Amino acid sequence: MRTDRTFTMLKPDAVEKGHIGAILEKINASGFRIVAMKLTQMTTQDAKEFYAVHSERPFYGELVEYMTRGPIVAAILEKENAVEDFRTLIGATNPADAAEGTIRKLYAASIGENAVHGSDSDENAAIESAFHFAGREMF
Ligand code: UDP
Ligand code: MG
Repeated sequence: MRTDRTFTMLKPDAVEKGHIGAILEKINASGFRIVAMKLTQMTTQDAKEFYAVHSERPFYGELVEYMTRGPIVAAILEKENAVEDFRTLIGATNPADAAEGTIRKLYAASIGENAVHGSDSDENAAIESAFHFAGREMF
């Protein structure tokens, strides 16, 4: 499993608020290369499947509603140590706990609507990338 790629989504709240450009700027400035990228919208079935690991959690229904309410930017990013470094760049799940300067500290409204997704392992990065992109869409 390659360790130099991660998967991200700029979530519906970030797109609605016009933060695509600012967040991509930060991603580029932090040394990530964009391998794949598109504006897309998840169906309810997509979101349920993507977040299936959370299906027993109390926030699952709200999470699926939120993630399907508008378009997202899905992207694959490349950098040495991509998964861990991107998790550092986005900050804690709850923006109240996120470090200064992180994407969630800057752009997230709440633990639910937290602007951006980042894969939590190399294995999940590969699964999530394949969920959203065909091989010919990856560069
Ligand atoms: N989430 C939520 N309430 C919680 C925890 C998580 O609404 O108490 C949402 C939030 O959008 C989060 C997503 O569910 O990004 C996935 O949760 P996870 O624990 O995997 O956080 P992440 O990996 O995104 O930091
Ligand atoms: Mg997670």
